[in-house]
Amino acid sequence: MESRIERIKKQLHTAGYKLTPQREATVRVLLEHEEDHLSAEDVYLLVKEKSPEIGLATVYRTLELLTELKIVDKINFGDGVSRYDLRKEGAAHFHHHLVCIECGAVDEIQEDLLEDVEAIVERDWNFKIKDHRLTFHGICYRCQEKEQKEEHE
Ligand SMILES: [Zn+2]
Ligand SMILES: [Zn+2]
Repeated sequence: MESRIERIKKQLHTAGYKLTPQREATVRVLLEHEEDHLSAEDVYLLVKEKSPEIGLATVYRTLELLTELKIVDKINFGDGVSRYDLRKEGAAHFHHHLVCIECGAVDEIQEDLLEDVEAIVERDWNFKIKDHRLTFHGICYRCQEKEQKEEHE
């Protein structure tokens, strides 16, 4: 955790920004909830637990800055809410998401899996791909198991 904060601090410095205590509080919440996909409001409520003096506008500006620097990715799963997702270290591309239409769970796929598709797009559309977003909508394994159990009862 501390070494990741150090590296984010360096990324900010390189871009000409400081890791102020307010920014650090926001980064810590994102690191502590790495598996979650928090909205600005969620991040704010968690930051506030430890640093009640920090306002929503400050958290929001920090999230926008981190997005600009590609430390976090902003994503929308179709519910109109922007969520912030820490970019995995060393990841060239954004990871994929599996969104369950029954329970709302969001799982992640870290493997890229798209090399072939990207090669076709770059060749046939002469498009230099920098990143992608891929969200699958379906029924997660937990909900499938639950359904199967209920059927057998
Ligand atoms: Zn994610
Ligand atoms: Zn589910």
